[in-house]
Amino acid sequence: MLVADDDAMFREMITAVLEGAGYKVLAALDGQEGWDLLRKQGADLAVLDLNMPRKNGLELTRLIRASDKYKDLPVLMLTIRALVEEQISGYERGADDYLTKPFDPKMLIARVRVLERRILPK
Ligand SMILES: [Mg+2]
Repeated sequence: MLVADDDAMFREMITAVLEGAGYKVLAALDGQEGWDLLRKQGADLAVLDLNMPRKNGLELTRLIRASDKYKDLPVLMLTIRALVEEQISGYERGADDYLTKPFDPKMLIARVRVLERRILPK
């Protein structure tokens, strides 16, 4: 699972929560590192912060959707505010779901599990 968030506190919390639930996590400091890690090591789901330097979550999602290998990768986007317009444009650009910060760790796991059900068997 790819986790990209420039906020160290959130990145570490998300990583700990997902690892605690048994997932193997690739943690990236920004969108560019996230894209590099995905291409090098692969992932079957991505949790992406919306606001990040060197490619934000939407720019990274656009790259993912444009790639042959990862176009179907489930993407959960993390936002600070739940702005309706922002979320609609995110869905249009390929995000599968949103979670607004701060969130309960149990909700993160619940959303990840919903997205996992959509992963196509290889
Ligand atoms: Mg951020």
